[in-house]
Amino acid sequence: MNRATILIVDDEISNIEIMNAVLEDDYEVCFATSGQQALDTARVSQPDLVLLDVLMPGIDGFEVCRQIKADPLLADIPIIFTTGLGDTEDEMRGLSLGAIDYVTKPIQPAILRARVSNHVELKRLRDQLATLAVTDALTGLSNRRHLERALQTEAARLSRTGDWLSVIMLDIDFFKQFNDTYGHPAGDRCITMVGAALTRAVKRATDLPARYGGEEFACVLPGTDPQGAELVAQEIRLQIQSLNIPHAQSQVSPYITVSIGVASARCSREMAAENWIIEADRQLYDSKQKGRDRISTTQFDREADPAIQS
Ligand code: GH3
Ligand code: MG
Ligand code: MG
Repeated sequence: MNRATILIVDDEISNIEIMNAVLEDDYEVCFATSGQQALDTARVSQPDLVLLDVLMPGIDGFEVCRQIKADPLLADIPIIFTTGLGDTEDEMRGLSLGAIDYVTKPIQPAILRARVSNHVELKRLRDQLATLAVTDALTGLSNRRHLERALQTEAARLSRTGDWLSVIMLDIDFFKQFNDTYGHPAGDRCITMVGAALTRAVKRATDLPARYGGEEFACVLPGTDPQGAELVAQEIRLQIQSLNIPHAQSQVSPYITVSIGVASARCSREMAAENWIIEADRQLYDSKQKGRDRISTTQFDREADPAIQS
């Protein structure tokens, strides 16, 4: 397991030295001696916990805490204030700003070690939960929730430049018959292998493959135009073909195949993220209608007509 990183913030070097001596054997420790330095270091090193002095010249500890809690990229980092003995008001104020705990100076090594260890452990559990909440248990891919969130974020981001965004949806052909023939556990293994093939097919770091549900998968491809998206769809089909998973009851092939729908559009503020899903789903339906084991694509440039949704 990776060692957790602790950021110690204090304008008095001697305090930093005392805390470092307590923590350095168990953690990666980094330091800051001012509020501004604390914010800069937090952004760069994304610590798992901050030990934050209240009284500092310039930006004080309360303001550092406020800014960390207001920054979406830092807000999850637990903050422990280090306050002089008996500063009850400071403690109250710190806790109300979102700090998780406080320790009093002069530092008592055993107490500091115990509190830091407790909060680092809780942070780990929170991080694990957050990961679980966006992961599909069977395939380890992102789940539908994560895909939809990523699609929204990317559509909003790319709307500033009017760049392309593409979504691919795919569905395994005659999968009910596969389960009926080979059993549900074999069906699960098939879904896992298809998920792995999908991951091999999408290569850009910003592409997001996901299990959309059941035997359906989807991919968000930011900055990918219609030609590029079709190439990715062909690669997905090829990767799944080359798994050579026998499917005796399929009406289109002796092996597992997928039907694919691709939807591409330039992002704009008027274009809601869900339109990519609606359009890709329509293309997927077309592929099914036309005989399965194929790719259908569309470029769209206006909102889907609500009358013909669903
Ligand atoms: P089509 O070619 O039209 O897509 O037909 P299909 O049989 O693949 O589609 P249908 O929607 O009728 O059936 C989907 C099947 O997928 C039925 C369901 O039991 C199975 N399925 C969904 N999720 C899982 C899963 O997690 N594991 C397994 N083994 N099967 C699943
Ligand atoms: Mg199916
Ligand atoms: Mg289905």
